[in-house]
Amino acid sequence: MILSYVYKLRPSGSQSAKMELWLDMLRSHYNWCLADRIETYQQQFVQGAYCNLKTRAEATPLTCCIVKNGATGNPWQDSGKKRNAVTIQDAALVELKASRPWYKSIDSDVLQRNIARLNTAYQNFFDGRGFPVFKNRSNFRSFEYKPGRVKFQGNKVYLPKIGLMRFLNSRPIPDSFTVKSVTIRCKTDGWFMSVRIEDKSVPELPKRDISSIKTAVGLDMGLTKLAYCSDGSDIQNPRFATNKKTKRILKIRQRRLSRTKKGSQNRKKRLSQVASLHNKIANHRNAYQWQIANKIVKKADAVIVEDLNIKGMVKRCKPKRCEKTGRFLSNGQSAKRGLNRAILDAAWGEFISKIEYVAAKSGKILLKINPKHTSQTCSVCGHVDKFSRDREKFICTECGHFDHADRQAARNIKQKAVQEYGLNLIKVLRDSKEPKQLSLFETPSTESTVPKRRKQTALKSKRSVPGNLAVQLDLFSQNIWNVSSIESPFF
Ligand SMILES: [Zn+2]
Repeated sequence: MILSYVYKLRPSGSQSAKMELWLDMLRSHYNWCLADRIETYQQQFVQGAYCNLKTRAEATPLTCCIVKNGATGNPWQDSGKKRNAVTIQDAALVELKASRPWYKSIDSDVLQRNIARLNTAYQNFFDGRGFPVFKNRSNFRSFEYKPGRVKFQGNKVYLPKIGLMRFLNSRPIPDSFTVKSVTIRCKTDGWFMSVRIEDKSVPELPKRDISSIKTAVGLDMGLTKLAYCSDGSDIQNPRFATNKKTKRILKIRQRRLSRTKKGSQNRKKRLSQVASLHNKIANHRNAYQWQIANKIVKKADAVIVEDLNIKGMVKRCKPKRCEKTGRFLSNGQSAKRGLNRAILDAAWGEFISKIEYVAAKSGKILLKINPKHTSQTCSVCGHVDKFSRDREKFICTECGHFDHADRQAARNIKQKAVQEYGLNLIKVLRDSKEPKQLSLFETPSTESTVPKRRKQTALKSKRSVPGNLAVQLDLFSQNIWNVSSIESPFF
C-alpha cells in the first residue's frame, strides 16, 4: 500500500534561501530541456524524405517524425543501444555542470528527477492531454528526491546537499512502511514536504464487490446546500470563497495589490496577502470536506453520486454577434459568472474524490450514475416531466407528489443506481419510511411531517432550519396556483 503524508518543514534562513535558489535553477533547467526537445523535433520534422526505422517504409516528412521525443546530444550509447530523450538529457548533465558550475550545488538526483518530470509531462501529452508548458515562478514550486535518499531522525530530516532540517512530525510514519520519494514544495505559508511511503505487505485498498452492498445513500450536489442525501438529511454549503465577508476582504486586498507599482517591495507584500487568503480558503474547504466525507461514508455501504460534467457546467457562454453590424451582443456571461464561481467554490469534484478515498479506506464504495433526468423524475410514480420542477419545489404533474426538488432528486439517484448496477438493498426502517404526502387541499398537520428533533432546534433558534415546518409551509403556501405550467390533476 502506498500512502502520502505531508509535513510542514521548519528550515533555517540559509536553508530556505538555498531552496529558493534551487527552485530558480531547476526551473531554468526544466525550461531549457523543454526548449531543447521542441527544437530537435522541429529540426527533424523539416528534413527531407526518410523512412520509418521500424517498418522501413517511406514516410512523409509532413505527417511524421522519426523520433517523437528527441533531444540534442549523442543519441547512441557506448554499447550501441539507442538513447531516448531522458537518457540523452541525463547524460548532458555532466556538460551542464562543467559549463555552469553553480549547478553542482544541486543534488544530482534532484536534477535527474527534474528531467523525469518533463518526461512525465510529455507522456501526458502523448496520452492526449495538453502540450508541456514553459514554467514560470508561480507554477514551478517543487522539487523531488529519489527513493532512499532522504533520512528521518525524530523531528529532523536529512535532505542531501541541504542538510539536517527540523520539521513538524505531526503524523509519525508507521514502522512497517519504507520511505519512497520525497517532494519539497514551497507554498505561501511556508515549505512543505510530502512523503510517499510504502508497505508491500499491506494490500492496496480493496474494491468492494457490488453484490455485497446492503445499504446505499444517494447524494444530490447543489449550491444552497452542498448536498442532499436520500435519507432526508442535508449538508450545509459554507461557501468558503463566495460568502459576503470573504468576497469583500478579497476585493479589498486585490484592489490594494492593483494599485502598487510593478516590481516594488510593496507589491510583493500585497501579493502575499492575496495569496495567503486564497490559501486559507483552500485549507478551510479541505478540512470541511474531509469531515463531511467521513460522515457520509458512515451512513451506508455505498455512496451514489451523479457523474457530473463540471468543466462543461462552468464553460463560458458562446459570444453572440449581430449579423448586420458585426458588433458583439450580450450573451449572458456576466450573469453566469457568479454562478460559475459558486460552482467552483463548492468544489464538487474534489468532494467526490474525497468521498471515494474515504469509502475505499473503510471498505465501502462510491458509485457514479448518469445524471440524466434525475431532477425531473418523480420518485414515487417515475413520471418524467420538466414542468414538474419549479426551482426548489417539485410537484409531479402526474400523481401530485410534492417534495423538495433536490431531496427527491437524491432519492432518484439512489433508485437509478439500484437499476443500473442491479443492487440488492435491504430495507432500512429510516429509509423506507416515505414522507407523508401533502395534498393541496389538506392543511398539513405538524406531527406527521416534521421529525421531533427538528422541531426542538426550530424552537431554540430563530433562524429557520432547512426542512422545518415554517419553511415547508412557506414553500407550500407560495403561489402554487399561479404556476401556469402545471396541469394539476386536482382541477
Ligand atoms: Zn409522480
